[in-house]
Amino acid sequence: MASYLPVENGTRSFWLSAETEFGSTRTTENLPSEVDVLIIGGGYSGATTAYYLLNGKNRPESVLLLEARTLCSGATGRNGGHFKPSFYSSSISHTEKYGQKACADITNFEMAHLKELREVLEKEKLDCEYIVTRGCDVYTSEKGAQRAIANFHHMMENPYVENKHEFQLHVGDRAKILSKMPDARACVTGPAGQMWPYKLMVALLEICTTKGLNIQANTPVLSTEKQKNGKYLVHTERGDVIAKSLVIATNAYTASVEPRFENKIVPIKGICSHIISSGAKAPAHLTNSYGLLLPQNSDYLINRPDGSIILGGAKEHLFPYKERFYNVVDDSTLVPNAEDYFEGYMEKNFYSWQESKSAVAKVWSGIMGYADDGLPYVGELEEKKFILAGFGGHGMPRILLCAKAVAKYIKGESSEFEVPRPFLVTPERMERTENGVLASLQAVVEK
Ligand SMILES: Cc1cc2nc3c(=O)[nH]c(=O)nc-3n(C[C@H](O)[C@H](O)[C@H](O)COP(=O)(O)OP(=O)(O)OC[C@H]3O[C@@H](n4cnc5c(N)ncnc54)[C@H](O)[C@@H]3O)c2cc1C
Repeated sequence: MASYLPVENGTRSFWLSAETEFGSTRTTENLPSEVDVLIIGGGYSGATTAYYLLNGKNRPESVLLLEARTLCSGATGRNGGHFKPSFYSSSISHTEKYGQKACADITNFEMAHLKELREVLEKEKLDCEYIVTRGCDVYTSEKGAQRAIANFHHMMENPYVENKHEFQLHVGDRAKILSKMPDARACVTGPAGQMWPYKLMVALLEICTTKGLNIQANTPVLSTEKQKNGKYLVHTERGDVIAKSLVIATNAYTASVEPRFENKIVPIKGICSHIISSGAKAPAHLTNSYGLLLPQNSDYLINRPDGSIILGGAKEHLFPYKERFYNVVDDSTLVPNAEDYFEGYMEKNFYSWQESKSAVAKVWSGIMGYADDGLPYVGELEEKKFILAGFGGHGMPRILLCAKAVAKYIKGESSEFEVPRPFLVTPERMERTENGVLASLQAVVEK
């Protein structure tokens, strides 16, 4: 089997400019010999699971987090910073597959993240440059616009969906004005947020260390084995640890510790950039955050408080070339032509940038974990071995409450995982051998 461990020397993202020594934390010099809960992975999933485990009552006595590289150096430290619940775009396919109620549950669950995140930020008084935005999905091809319109109306007819009044569909000139994009044919707007994900997760981990979390960075887990007494023996190059419960929060790299996820959670390489204004005239600030569904591409964009832009996608340079992105864990390289793709993008696509000049300040890559059926795996793989992984390019409005659900279950505060049913680990999902990842991604550039 190929190695699914993260590689050394990942490209440096804009967000990782906030990295401090804490990223390499080792709370104790040596690994503890035995712990109650051992979390593998120090990204959004691992950090928030630790946070909810160590908050409130029923805290485990000892929690250890093992991270292969520095903290949050995976997808969480490399993403687009966009926190946009997806309301309508999969309405038809999710309803066909899971039924009307489960389809609505996914949307309602994502929307609930806006409230949950705000509560965490206010409770902990955290600054991660969180801004409430209006998420705006813009469609510039007729086919894409028609598909979006059909999905939007389909979702509006679903009686189980909450907060419908928050979403609006615009077409024609209205779509151009609202999106600020001359080529817009349709756009859908709704509540969203944006932030500096690295700052949030590291702040949460710092809080966790005051509550007893032992963090061991630069400590890849090589394998795990179940002992006769039901506990897990976790192997690392720095020695072994015995854990009563295990949490797999390794996302794209899950096959490195759970080989049964090879071909079930596929590492997919993505590209993102930081754009600055370089002309004499500064462009007007974009108050929307964006999903940009262009012919051959599907990009995402946020306008940062300092006026710069985080823009990701460039899929026309990835998805037609399987070897560049599929089953790839290497985030130490970019892909050919990615930089050129982002050059001049703002002037080309937005009215408010037409008299300004943009410059690409940084480009980086990151690895997403796409699940075979498109939805994350959350739940118990075997007794006291838990997982939350497979969040694809859309983890921000899904992970927080998945982590809370896993933590509540481990603490005995809930007898079930409080996540949408299609996210749950089930024998049917685990036995599936079909994998729709490649087809779903290549469809993006064929439309
Ligand atoms: C370029 C890019 C842009 C994105 N943009 C967005 C966006 O705008 N909005 C959005 O919602 N989502 C976005 N995503 C997806 C989002 O970032 C992810 O869904 C989310 O960060 C996943 O968090 P995670 O903790 O599960 O995974 P990760 O952040 O990847 O964390 C997993 C961690 O586990 C560690 N690990 C792996 N294997 C081992 C091992 N064997 N031993 C020890 N540690 C191990 C890794 O080093 C890593 O730190 C984007 C992703 C990328 C790559």
